[in-house]
Amino acid sequence: MMNAIESVPAIRTPLPGPLAKALIERDERFTSPSYTREYPLAVKAGRGAVIEDLDGNLFLDFTAGIAVCATGHCHPRVVAAVKEQADLLLHMSGTDFYYPPQANLAERLAGLVPGGRNNRVFFTNSGAEAVEAAFKLARLHTRRKFVIAFFGGFHGRTMGALSLTASKTVQRSGFAPLVPMVAHADFPNVYRSGLSPEATSDECLASIETLLARTIPADEVAAFIVEPIQGEGGYIVPPPDFHRRLKELASRHGILYVADEVQAGMGRTGKMFASEHFGVEPDIICLAKGIASGLPLGAIVAREEIMDWPPGSHASTFGGNPLACVAALETVNLLEEDLMKNAADTGAFLLQELRALAPRFPLIGDVRGLGLMVGVELVRDRATKEPAPQERDAVVQRCFHQGLLLLGCGKSTLRFCPPLVITREQAATAVKILANALGS
Ligand code: PLP
Repeated sequence: MMNAIESVPAIRTPLPGPLAKALIERDERFTSPSYTREYPLAVKAGRGAVIEDLDGNLFLDFTAGIAVCATGHCHPRVVAAVKEQADLLLHMSGTDFYYPPQANLAERLAGLVPGGRNNRVFFTNSGAEAVEAAFKLARLHTRRKFVIAFFGGFHGRTMGALSLTASKTVQRSGFAPLVPMVAHADFPNVYRSGLSPEATSDECLASIETLLARTIPADEVAAFIVEPIQGEGGYIVPPPDFHRRLKELASRHGILYVADEVQAGMGRTGKMFASEHFGVEPDIICLAKGIASGLPLGAIVAREEIMDWPPGSHASTFGGNPLACVAALETVNLLEEDLMKNAADTGAFLLQELRALAPRFPLIGDVRGLGLMVGVELVRDRATKEPAPQERDAVVQRCFHQGLLLLGCGKSTLRFCPPLVITREQAATAVKILANALGS
């Protein structure tokens, strides 16, 4: 078993080791081939930012199970809360009945989101379901049909969420017809535009104005649905003024501004919600991933005058499950106590150390992020900014073999989304491994 004083990473077998190999063979025989396994990691246990595989190898986890395990793997307080709740009640359906964990969490989340006491919460099991709920609520509340999302955005894989997703065609290919009356606009990318942040925002907002002037009447648009920072699409931080100006445009036309904070929310960027960095108060906010530190839970939060749907119009059997709700309550406590601050501080340190690598490695085109949501975009040539997807994939593989778990995002970006408990030493170790991988 994992020992707290062992140094991590510790790779003791060829990868995959014999036990991992056997499991992977069995898994691949029976599970869906749609899953994308980047490297042969078969997990036995997790503690904090450390993953132990079946063969006893120890890895430093900079994926957090895709930005989910906010408080680290198996945080003792989260585990204790879940164990205590498991003895009381596993399920009763918050759609039909009342139980304290759901009411407690709703009260807590309502208070966290700007708007405070006037907020209401609808619970789901996943990010895609939160987006579905926001999509449906926006249409119902406004009685308008169109929704505008953004190229590069990822909102999930159910039919409604997939209609909004515009990250990679493989995610949509063969699934049409999707939900109609969805359009996409450019998301501002300062690195790619080569323009100033303001001019990059100007361009994107002008293209949205064109959509509204030429093809989609503004008074038929229910919502803009946007990630504060694009996640799956490449960890793209928009210019500081973009979201505020988008929200102003929305308000001018009675359009709702929906923030998909499924990946960026719950403390990851150093603030509870990434929208706070941009000075916007979303009309509807979508949450999932980090909210319950690994238990399946999602939510949307909106002011009560917006969340005005009648009984029976939307519900979910498992949404707001008691185990997930107590895990979320403890997660929020831990975020407020010190993890959000650690995300800001250690995130700034990680960003600085990664930026310091750039002069040594021409493959590094851009390093960007907020808190512990950091992306390193690899390019073949800094002048042309030609993406380097094969090189990115090779770096991810090399890091795995040296004991650092990373994932990609976008065309050729490395994604750093560790649990929010990581230490400076762990961040420094990750950067050292990355440097080795880039150098070899
Ligand atoms: N929205 C965003 C911003 C996401 O990053 C994701 C998942 O990566 C989703 C929605 C979908 O979440 P889930 O996979 O829980 O359905």
